[in-house]
Amino acid sequence: MTREFDFSFETGDIPELSPQILRESMPDLTDEQTAAFIKYYKMLVLWNRKLNLTRITDPNEVAEKHFADSVLGASLIPEGARVVDVGTGAGFPGIPLKIVRPDIELVMVDSLGKRVKFLTELTLELGIDAAAIHARAEDAARTSGLRGSFDIALSRAVAPMNVLTELTVPFVKVGGASLMYKGSNAREELKESANAMKTLQCRADAVDYDVPWGARTIVRAVKTAPTPAKYPRKAGTAERSPL
Ligand code: SAM
Repeated sequence: MTREFDFSFETGDIPELSPQILRESMPDLTDEQTAAFIKYYKMLVLWNRKLNLTRITDPNEVAEKHFADSVLGASLIPEGARVVDVGTGAGFPGIPLKIVRPDIELVMVDSLGKRVKFLTELTLELGIDAAAIHARAEDAARTSGLRGSFDIALSRAVAPMNVLTELTVPFVKVGGASLMYKGSNAREELKESANAMKTLQCRADAVDYDVPWGARTIVRAVKTAPTPAKYPRKAGTAERSPL
């Protein structure tokens, strides 16, 4: 069987991501985790030549802005949690979290088939046990086995918070949380999401991270009651008409 993307012949000219670079922003990495991030970097840069996965490819920047940034939320995820990463793209923040927290069960959802294909190959290459689903969040969150079945939903750089709340909270169990990775405008977005939080039955707080690559905040929306049956509304509606 021929593979649609075979890059095995052209790995020579990828810039080096050294263990030292990785440990500057993630000092506690084991040798095994370091090796996994280096492999991830190589595959990301290679596949990025054919698919649009990321605009960040410099090794220092990938280490900080993709890998270490993704790992920021690790301490907010309970041991053994079932986790869904909504709009995961090239696997952020889900895959870096799974590398440092192999105890979590990870499901990734993205609406772009080629990115999901990349994730399938990536998880095989890294020997990571995680599922990648090609679907819109609005449809996946209505699927039995996915709706209301996760301890944690993750999302980064997917949509404004009032939209994201509707796309992520339906996946979460009562008592679970949606962790939304945001930048310097997190609190403003949170204010604008008051109605979304109320409608989706959430209580939210924000955790700030003082890191060299910028102002980072994770907004945690804890689900206090089941999601009303009408949410999420049909694909595209949350974006067009946010709560
Ligand atoms: N989370 C990744 C990151 O931080 O690098 C990817 C961010 S990228 C800007 C947004 C991703 O969300 C894209 O891969 C896109 O296909 C996906 N996406 C956007 N809306 C979506 C939806 N309604 N359902 C599933 N995926 C969605």
